[in-house]
Amino acid sequence: MTEADMTDQRAFSPELKQKLFHEGYICSYCGNVILSVDDAEVDHVMPYSLGGETVESNAQLLHRHCNREKNNIIDADWSTEEDNQD
Ligand SMILES: [Zn+2]
Repeated sequence: MTEADMTDQRAFSPELKQKLFHEGYICSYCGNVILSVDDAEVDHVMPYSLGGETVESNAQLLHRHCNREKNNIIDADWSTEEDNQD
């Protein structure tokens, strides 16, 4: 019925970003407070490339630069063994 809406399902709306943002919001990537909504981007908790949906329940805010860094890591190599140094 609304298949036209399927064209750009990857992008979250600016309205959702405003809705999610609140004072003291913690970036889940670096653990620091996001001070301004202008410094935030909406990110998929479950990556879109892995089937995560573009819905509010799968949305989180990250710093703009953190979101970029995270995406770079996922794109580069998601299966590195960096945690095996116990
Ligand atoms: Zn951050």
